[in-house]
Amino acid sequence: MVGCRAMPPRLPLDPVSRPTIVERAKRHGLVPVETYDASIRTALRYATPDNVFKKVLYPAGFPALAADRTAKKLAAANRFLKPHGLRLLVLDAYRPPAVQWQIYKMFRDDKYVADPRKKWSKHCYGRAVDVALTDLSGRLLEMPGTFDDFSKKAAAAYAGTDPAVRRRLTRLQQAMTAAGFSIYDDEWWHFNDLSDPAALAGRPVFGWQIGLGTPPAIYQIIE
Ligand SMILES: [Zn+2]
Repeated sequence: MVGCRAMPPRLPLDPVSRPTIVERAKRHGLVPVETYDASIRTALRYATPDNVFKKVLYPAGFPALAADRTAKKLAAANRFLKPHGLRLLVLDAYRPPAVQWQIYKMFRDDKYVADPRKKWSKHCYGRAVDVALTDLSGRLLEMPGTFDDFSKKAAAAYAGTDPAVRRRLTRLQQAMTAAGFSIYDDEWWHFNDLSDPAALAGRPVFGWQIGLGTPPAIYQIIE
């Protein structure tokens, strides 16, 4: 029964050992997003208070992870961008279900945040990424809207006021779709990897499976 589904407890925020998490994550098919292209940069917005919730939701040291095949697609997208003087910056990738639940409780708008009582976000499977663009020196480039600005400016089709900025977003969309990602209409920064529907129909990867906290009793039974 959906309404009775147990939700994971809040993620502990004690700093974590990146190598330990990476090693555990590998057992669940998740790898660091820069595995296949070391020039991909990461800046997890939920690891700092620099996000729409003004809250730190990830522990220090938490790596940006994605499903192995999703990380390969990111490398392909980054290769596409390089000749244009552009580079991917990953703002969010694998998101532990505990954090998804926390975000949903703060936001409660199904348009932008998947309701975990109905389905888990594709971020919880490591099969969605939130990305922006930098130039080759790493300078963050302007987009028609800003990350997590949940207004009309978030729409993937939003034109904005500067045609050059809009062309940059179109370039990002070309790179991501050529690599096999799907555009998400409501958020320009969010891209889904829907290439493995069977995986998305199963259980997400819970934080404790990769070394973040301990499972509550209900999950210890089904683990
Ligand atoms: Zn997203």
